[in-house]
Amino acid sequence: MTTFIILLGPPGSGKGTQAERLVGELGVPHISSGDLFRAMKEQDTPLAREIQAIMARGELVPDSATLRVVEARLQEDDARAGAILDGFPRTVPQAEALDGLLAELGGRLAAALLLNITEDEVVTRISGRRVCPACERVYHVVYNPPAAAEVCDGCSGALLQRSDDEPRVVCERYRQYLSKTAPLIEHYRDAGLLVEIDAMRQIEAITPDLVAAVRSRVDAH
Ligand code: AMP
Repeated sequence: MTTFIILLGPPGSGKGTQAERLVGELGVPHISSGDLFRAMKEQDTPLAREIQAIMARGELVPDSATLRVVEARLQEDDARAGAILDGFPRTVPQAEALDGLLAELGGRLAAALLLNITEDEVVTRISGRRVCPACERVYHVVYNPPAAAEVCDGCSGALLQRSDDEPRVVCERYRQYLSKTAPLIEHYRDAGLLVEIDAMRQIEAITPDLVAAVRSRVDAH
């Protein structure tokens, strides 16, 4: 039995934060396509440079490049029993390719969990988001603050705002979400895999609902 799940929702809906919390509960790794792309920042290749430029504009990386990166990650040993996919798939062709990939890997999708929040809340959350560039932990100045202001609890690094969290880029990311990713909601509803979660609540209140939704789906098979 495998536990592959997708976290769906607009930028700032808490996908990364919840994914980290689900790792311990579900025992499968968190795979974030955005993190995989950010990790390519150090690579000095034309493709890596092009990907950083696309991200800086808030646009989507082409499906072919995205699929190559995610496929390689899913083939690693720790993902054999499943994975929590965060930020992937983001387009219908990516979702279709994922089905093929999972079939090759002998897995299947247990659920697509949609984190529902309003556009106003997206703006509030993203403007307060801070990340540790050293260990990649994510915080929010109000909702999930570090013990000492602007300092990472894990490694004491100075926290920063993600460059694509600046308001102009967030607007474009939200636009891309509505036009290219939101169609996945119907896609997964039609497939009987969609579970909608009220993500306007506190971080700690949301995780148990996600865990319960995943467990009921995994147990049913
Ligand atoms: P995230 O960390 O999920 O907000 O992703 C940051 C950025 O990485 C996005 O704004 C896109 O430019 C790019 N990205 C991440 N995941 C994908 C994907 N599945 N398809 C295309 N672009 C992606």
